[in-house]
Amino acid sequence: MSSRTIVHMDLDSFFVSVERLKNSRLNGLPLVVGGGSDRGVVSACSYEARYYGVRSGMPSKMARYLCPDAIFIRGDMEMYSRYSKTVTDIVAEEAHIYEKASIDEHYIDISGMDRFFGTYKWTKELKDKIVKNTGLPISF
Ligand SMILES: [Mg+2]
Repeated sequence: MSSRTIVHMDLDSFFVSVERLKNSRLNGLPLVVGGGSDRGVVSACSYEARYYGVRSGMPSKMARYLCPDAIFIRGDMEMYSRYSKTVTDIVAEEAHIYEKASIDEHYIDISGMDRFFGTYKWTKELKDKIVKNTGLPISF
């Protein structure tokens, strides 16, 4: 059995990054994406909100208690899906075998590629292309 080489690409705090692309004044501020009502839940939060203990999946009410200065944004799944699709289109342009694992994650099979290219160099170039074309930070 031959071994496979798989790279995992994950957009960094994806919903927060999209919101900041749309409004750069949100940069550096504690940001919570999710339902702001008493029964709402945090679907994503910025590093600055995490610092106060805010986590995804937590009730918004608790997030507001932990970080009263946080800015709450309801979120726009349609917009996030559009950005996600743009990233998938770029991956599909460059990679032969890939799988979209979630709205912000892709797995790419780069097995055998090291016979032709440096796998790190190839992946870094794909990452740079995604950042350049979408403005979204992504890690691999
Ligand atoms: Mg992510």
